[in-house]
Amino acid sequence: MTKLHSLTHEFVDFVPEQLEPGTLYVSIRYKSASHLCCCGCGEKVVTPLSPTGWRLTYDGKTVSLSPSIGNWNLACRSHYWIERNRVEWAETWSRQRAASGFARDIADKQAYFAPTPIEPSLPEAGNVKRTPLLTFVRRFLKRSAK
Ligand SMILES: [Zn+2]
Repeated sequence: MTKLHSLTHEFVDFVPEQLEPGTLYVSIRYKSASHLCCCGCGEKVVTPLSPTGWRLTYDGKTVSLSPSIGNWNLACRSHYWIERNRVEWAETWSRQRAASGFARDIADKQAYFAPTPIEPSLPEAGNVKRTPLLTFVRRFLKRSAK
């Protein structure tokens, strides 16, 4: 299997039954884009275009899709971006690229990796022996809460 590093696009009304590898078929009519997975596994990848799905950008020459294509449901589990007809593989992701765009992907990643906030909590009085330090901490917290 050969990984693709570029695609051509084709605007179509109907996506053909047999997709050509290396072609991104865009149907404005059906608000979707389809292509064969860029890893070369031959699986069809359909990306619905919608405000909550994928956004297609056409600059008059090339197309970009965002967010990234994450084929988690395929055996290959490939992950890449289609940007200006180029295929950018996730493993070549760099901070620079992250900073230069794909805000939604970054937001998703941040939401995913953000640590769960730990709520400050005091042990229940019944469970813990009262120690001078604990009493002090409780008093301190009570005071600072005011
Ligand atoms: Zn694949």
